[in-house]
This record gives sequence, structure tokens and C-alpha cells, in this order.
Amino acid sequence: MDFADSPEQAAFRQEVVEFFDKNFPEELVADPNIDPRTEGRRRGGGEAMKKWRAALVEKGWIAPAWPKEYGGANLSPMEQFILNEETARRGAPTVRVPDVGSTIMVHGSEEQKKEFLPPMVRGETVWCQGYSEPGSGSDLASLQTRAVRDGDDFVINGQKIWTSGAHLANWIFALVRTDPEAPKHRGITYLLAPMDTPGISIRPLVQMNDARGFNETFFEDVRVPVKNAVGEINRGWYVGATHLDFERSSIGQSVGHTRTLGELTDFVKSTPQSRLGQVDAPRLELADRYVEAQVATLFSQRVISMQARGLIPNYEASMAKAYSTEFSQRIARTATRLLGLYGGVRGDEAHDGKNAPMGGRWATMYLSTVSATIAGGTSEIQRNVIATRGLGLPRG
Ligand SMILES: Cc1cc2nc3c(=O)[nH]c(=O)nc-3n(C[C@H](O)[C@H](O)[C@H](O)COP(=O)(O)OP(=O)(O)OC[C@H]3O[C@@H](n4cnc5c(N)ncnc54)[C@H](O)[C@@H]3O)c2cc1C
Repeated sequence: MDFADSPEQAAFRQEVVEFFDKNFPEELVADPNIDPRTEGRRRGGGEAMKKWRAALVEKGWIAPAWPKEYGGANLSPMEQFILNEETARRGAPTVRVPDVGSTIMVHGSEEQKKEFLPPMVRGETVWCQGYSEPGSGSDLASLQTRAVRDGDDFVINGQKIWTSGAHLANWIFALVRTDPEAPKHRGITYLLAPMDTPGISIRPLVQMNDARGFNETFFEDVRVPVKNAVGEINRGWYVGATHLDFERSSIGQSVGHTRTLGELTDFVKSTPQSRLGQVDAPRLELADRYVEAQVATLFSQRVISMQARGLIPNYEASMAKAYSTEFSQRIARTATRLLGLYGGVRGDEAHDGKNAPMGGRWATMYLSTVSATIAGGTSEIQRNVIATRGLGLPRG
């Protein structure tokens, strides 16, 4: 099989490269240790970031898949892949509209598209997601947050947890139970609410890497207009599933890992103490990671090629997500092992890492990537999807 660009793809890649040459401020080279889900938001205030964002908005590349009328660029899946590849190759932060926008594009009404999509493109709305609850994570359909209809409003009561970036967001979308009598996958609705609605409050959850990414989110008699339901009332489970398919397809992107691995290899090659020439183990381990990087890329390409044919990847997105997130943990383990004691020195928001090779990024990556196999559905849940929908095995 020939994976080389077609002439049209090569021309598009050239356009992307030239755009980066002209517009990308090198000071924004992304720190791979920072969670991309909150990175754009954290960096949102800087002048360089504002300029970069504006350049992407002008091209429509902030929402590459969307039609032009909503601020997108109508790029084909392969063109989106090329854009992602070149973004990762530069080490540029990914600046994209949130997946909730793509979900509204599929399930939302025309009014909702007009109301919610343009402010996302302009970066005026920042979203967080209210799926998980203290008693409902993998078994999400058991969620208990209730929304009771009262005239033209729903009144929400309940609690969400692990809400990434809720402290930075001005909107939330939440799955809520609107019919407690129905079987658990029915009777759920996908609702949108401004974070400053009276009755919504948050409490931070600080992680082991000292980052504050998560929150608990509480709803006490929160009134949300019924018109803020996306898709049919009581059919929100399927709207949420579309959202997760978008999220898993993009979490599985492997290009950034390939770049990270290349940087590690360059570092080890240029460091005599790594004893690459005398000891087999590190060479063999890096070779394994290199093979895995190629496999991860193939998984991503499979997802992209399905999207290009108008199909919605499902267990294929689960394969890419599980493999790529476990692979990121193996890269971090390899790197920290190769660096010996220095492998434990961190460089991140809380630690300067100045005494460590490569600024201490590997110890931080070692800690940060632990959560990658949990977020967006755990590796076990991805394997359940692969087993049942991919292999046709019975449910456990
Ligand atoms: C970085 C990060 C960001 C997140 N952001 C958000 C967010 O913004 N919004 C949000 O709503 N949630 C968010 N989450 C929560 C995430 O979706 C849940 O943590 C995840 O779905 C797992 O649920 P849980 O933590 O309740 O674990 P549980 O569901 O309690 O699982 C515990 C363990 O049991 C295993 N297990 C459970 N069921 C099965 C099964 N049927 N078969 C085999 N094994 C099983 C799991 O794999 C896991 O190892 C985030 C999580 C992380 C780590």
C-alpha cells in the first residue's frame, strides 16, 4: 500500500507548511506535558496565542471539518489529518472548536447551530463536559442527575465529577435524567447551560501532578430552557455517544507521540552517557517504541480513511484510543528509564526542571499519561467495545 500523499494532498500540505512558516509564533511550541484539553484555554490570554488563533480562524482551520458558513473550512478528513500532522510536527498547540460543537452540528437544530457555533469559532465560549458522576463513570447510563420539566424550563438537581476545566468554562453540556421510569439508556437528555446559571457551583480536585484540571460540579434547582436540549428529549444517550466518538477519534491521534519519540531519540543519540553503543537494552526498547509509533499512526489513518468515506468510526476509534494512550505511557516509561535518576526530575507548572535533561518533561509526562487510559472511557471499556462490536463477542 502506498501511503504517500496524492498530488492534491501534497499541494494542501505545502499550503499548510507555508501558512505555518508565515503565521506560527515559535514561542508557542507546545509543551507535550500539558493536557491538550485545557492547553488552549490556559494559553488563551497571551498576545501570541491570540494572533495565532486569529490566523486559524481566518483560514477556517479552527473548525476544519465544518461548512464555511459556520466558520469552518470544509476540509476532507485526509486534509484534516494533514493539518493535524503538520501541527504536531511543528509542536504547535492544537486550537480547535470543542467536540460539543461537532455534536451540535450533527444533532442540533438550525437555531442552535446559529446560536452556539459562531461564538465557539470566535473563542467567546469555553465549554466543559458533564458526563461522569460519583456513582457513574464507565456505567455512564446509570447517571442520576435529574432534570424535571417545569413549563419552558428544566430544573436540574444532582452532581457531576471530574469536570475538566469547569473553572475556566462559561458553558457546560450535561447528560441528565429526564425520564426515571424509562430503561436506563432511554430517558436521558443532552442539555446546554451557561456556567453562571444560579445554582451551579464547582469545587476543585487537585491531581497528583499538582495540576488543577478537574472539578466537582453541583446543580441545585438550576433552571435551563427546554430549547437548550440538543437532539430529542429522552434520546440524549445517542447524542452523548456521538460526542464520545468524536472525542475518542481525536484523543487517539498519534502524531504528537511520534514527534515526542523523535525528540527523545535525538537526545539519547547526542548524549554520550546514554551508552547507546555499548548496551543493548535501550536500543531495543527505543526500537520497540518506534515500531509502536508506526502502528499507532496506522490506527489513526484507519479512523481518518473511514471518516473520508462518510462512515462513523466506533470500535475503530476505541482501538486507536486504547493503543495510542497506552503507547504514550510506554514512551514515558522508556524515557524515564533511559534518563536514570534524572528521569524523576519534573518540569511543569509547579517544578522548574532546570537540573533535568530536556527540562524535566519526561517525569511529568510519566505522571500525566496515567490518566490518558481513563479519560474518555477506560482502556477496559474500549476493549469491551472492541470485543462486542468489533469481534461480535457476547456482552459479559
Ligand atoms: C484526564 C481525565 C479527564 C476527564 N474529564 C472528564 C470530563 O471533563 N467530564 C466528565 O464527565 N468526566 C471526565 N473524566 C472522567 C472519566 O470519563 C471517568 O473517569 C471514566 O469514564 C471512568 O469512570 P470512573 O472514574 O467512575 O471509574 P469506574 O467506572 O468506577 O471504573 C473503575 C475501574 O473498573 C473498570 N471497569 C468498570 N466497568 C468495567 C467493565 N464493564 N468491564 C471491565 N472493567 C470495568 C474500569 O476500567 C476501571 O479500571 C475524566 C477523566 C480523566 C482521567
